[in-house]
Amino acid sequence: MVEIRKPIQVAEAVERVMSHVQPLKTEILDLEHTYGRVLAEPIVAKHDVPPFDRSPYDGFAIRAIDSAGASGEERKSFNVVGEIGAGHVAHRPIEQGESFRIMTGALIPEQADAVVMLEQTVENDIGFTLRKPFEPGENISRQGEDAKQGEQLIEAGTLIHPGTIALLATFGYSQVRVAKKPVAGVLSTGTELLDVADELVPGKIRNSNGPMIHAQLTRMGIESKSYGMMEDNLDSCTEIVECALRETDVLITTGGVSVGDFDYLPAIYERLGAKVLFNKVAMRPGSVTTVAVLGDKLLFGLSGNPSACFTGFELFARPAILAMMGCTTPYMPRIQAILGEDFKKANPFTRFIRASWEMTSQGIVATPAGFNKSSAVSSIARGNCIIVLPSGTRGFEKGMVVDVLLLGMEQGVERWEL
Ligand code: AMP
Ligand code: MG
Repeated sequence: MVEIRKPIQVAEAVERVMSHVQPLKTEILDLEHTYGRVLAEPIVAKHDVPPFDRSPYDGFAIRAIDSAGASGEERKSFNVVGEIGAGHVAHRPIEQGESFRIMTGALIPEQADAVVMLEQTVENDIGFTLRKPFEPGENISRQGEDAKQGEQLIEAGTLIHPGTIALLATFGYSQVRVAKKPVAGVLSTGTELLDVADELVPGKIRNSNGPMIHAQLTRMGIESKSYGMMEDNLDSCTEIVECALRETDVLITTGGVSVGDFDYLPAIYERLGAKVLFNKVAMRPGSVTTVAVLGDKLLFGLSGNPSACFTGFELFARPAILAMMGCTTPYMPRIQAILGEDFKKANPFTRFIRASWEMTSQGIVATPAGFNKSSAVSSIARGNCIIVLPSGTRGFEKGMVVDVLLLGMEQGVERWEL
């Protein structure tokens, strides 16, 4: 008898997965190896930035008061008494009518309180003249204007990107405490599957999900361990899933979660004693997406249909893996865009359409990326985003505003918002 499965809403499914995530331990890494990791400690300013008053330009450091009353008719003249390159300091304070030639990034000499840009001066025998008065503080990068010592600048749980690395380097964090990275196992199931290098034979198709999931993980900086392809056989599949669970932190399988005669994943979960969090989601594609938990490990049973498999990974596995690393912004960013073509079909379940977005003079337009069935593979290749149409809707027309999830973004958001 075919089991009747009760679909749950996508948000509820995401919530169930996320509430079963077990964060991994932390480790200390050299700064150069932290790109793509998640901060396990906040970044606190260890000193002011900039650490001293400095010149933002190449020019001359002066006392503003000496420029008072300057105009085109009455140019003020300054004596240049020395030069300060970046990394150097003035040998003495300046006095009335004096200036130092100063380079970008150099420390402002004592008594100076303004910088005149090179372009604002006219050279003369003793130095230069200028034609406008300067305010005290004009053209000076103030100590601490960027960050004040002791300030918490970035919270723990933030994904480290190149800008974060720059900030860590600024404060001398040569070693950084970050969350460990999970190792993900990937197993493709299906007797019909051929290896990528194999010639096609009747009834068989090449395994595209395995390499795709591997790449989805790589895009996140996550290492994957491939368990290859398995024929639909309960005993051997159970064995390999058990083995994969011993060797990895999270397991992603593709195929075998429907209710066909050879869909063995549900039976495998049962044999292993894994708790199934859901086995039907009110979404298209990927309604058969199944997630189970065994001990502290999540098992993502993605549909074998390529578009469903892709979408299931991005919606459920990706945020869960990021949350395992302590990331507090694990969800794909959502934007609104103008629908690029009619999509008249009814949406009994929440629909996720592989699409591509581009900026136009009308704003951001997202257009479905062609053949869009759950089994489609060409539209995944063409797409760079996912249009989301709510359940219970129909008749979307070109020009209407729709929600769009952005793929491949380094920075995520805190909440699942659909
Ligand atoms: P299943 O989820 O096992 O019922 O498979 C659903 C559909 O996806 C079937 O047409 C399969 O042949 C196809 N499929 C399953 N696994 C893969 C895979 N690894 N790569 C490409 N297509 C697959
Ligand atoms: Mg199958």
